[in-house]
Amino acid sequence: MQDREFGIETLCLHAGQLPDPTTGSRATPIYQTAAYVFDSADHAASLFNLQTFGNVYSRLMNPTNAVFEQRMAALENGRAAVAVSSGMAAQMVAILTILEAGDEIVSSNTLYGGTHTQFAFNFRKLGIKAQFVDADDPDNFQKAITPQTKCLFAETIGNPANNIVDIEAVSDIAKANDIPFIVDNTFATPYLCRPFDHGADITVHSATKFICGHGTSIGGVLVESGKFPWDNGKFPTMMDPSEGYHGIRFYETFGDFGYTMKARCEILRTFGPALSPFNSFLFLQGVETLPVRMDRHCSNAMAVAQFLEDHNYVEWVNYPGLESNRYHALAKRYLPKGASGILSFGIRGGNEACVKFIESVKFLSHVVNLGDAKTLVVHPASTTHRQLDEEAQIAAGVQPNMIRISVGLETIEDILWDLDQALAISQK
Ligand SMILES: *Cc1c(COP(=O)(O)O)cnc(C)c1O
Repeated sequence: MQDREFGIETLCLHAGQLPDPTTGSRATPIYQTAAYVFDSADHAASLFNLQTFGNVYSRLMNPTNAVFEQRMAALENGRAAVAVSSGMAAQMVAILTILEAGDEIVSSNTLYGGTHTQFAFNFRKLGIKAQFVDADDPDNFQKAITPQTKCLFAETIGNPANNIVDIEAVSDIAKANDIPFIVDNTFATPYLCRPFDHGADITVHSATKFICGHGTSIGGVLVESGKFPWDNGKFPTMMDPSEGYHGIRFYETFGDFGYTMKARCEILRTFGPALSPFNSFLFLQGVETLPVRMDRHCSNAMAVAQFLEDHNYVEWVNYPGLESNRYHALAKRYLPKGASGILSFGIRGGNEACVKFIESVKFLSHVVNLGDAKTLVVHPASTTHRQLDEEAQIAAGVQPNMIRISVGLETIEDILWDLDQALAISQK
């Protein structure tokens, strides 16, 4: 089966797993264990030296998590992955693997609110500086790059601005500067877009969202393409003996999966954001149906977008699937199967109308999550992005009258009915 290139639906069900050799279990077992018995003292030593691959302790690796990691790597058309405890941890691990005090990130300014805070405040305290640029013009990345810049960062589809980044153009800039382009592919998932096929080097995900698909677990994953030339002179941290891990040289020793090995053995091991194998099991359940769910999320979101575009109480609708949307051409290029399930819209009457709307929905849920099978609504200005001042909110694509909706899998007529009745109340 080695030479067959399987379709993504098949990979979603099978990649990284064979029926359990001990029990025959068809489903991936939950290996709920902290540690693993060594065969001998020599075996233990060789595992610790990374000479033999095997399990030591579940903070670093776990067989259930390993299936999830291999499946995500296969879905992204990448080389290897590391599962971690949240999407926030995935970004942190992805960046701390290659950046240290004095280094810089150039990032799109349209980011998940928590990511903006992590980069702007928490990384700054570690001596890592983030520059935020308007990604609509990819040249803005080039203009912000300095000799200290060690990576570029953007979301495939910005949360919640719904802007689409020209991945190929930004990848070209990253390549010209010998630095990797890290893409947060949470909104698109590898079913709708594979950033590596467009030149990106590393992807990160909040698995909490569409990967899980049912709003049951927090988790994250980072994936490497295996193609970045870490020996280009810019990344001594990948080349020199690791002070944090027995003097190992990660790129020389592990080659095209050296980056994820360093992420696992240095950052995950010492900072500790390990994923629970139970959550991995639930993510694997979610991934099995990712293609059918994403197709329906996309078609339901398109129907909602069209309904809202024609609605009297709605001032604007932002969904890249709409032909009127400024990112429609980029959506057709990077998201040919659909523009995902999240859209935003502005209610006539501003902040006050938004609050009435949020308080009047019947079965749509007012929560900050997204990518659930259930339809979710939120008012970002007062929740996810409230840490930012108004100027930073606008720069991040958050207007005061904006509602974000993560369109779920309910009967589409029911979703439209609930939106319509809550919009009517918003105007009273
Ligand atoms: C939710 C989200 C995150 C953070 O993920 P958690 O799993 O909540 O830690 C990061 N990026 C994007 C785009 C998100 O939507």
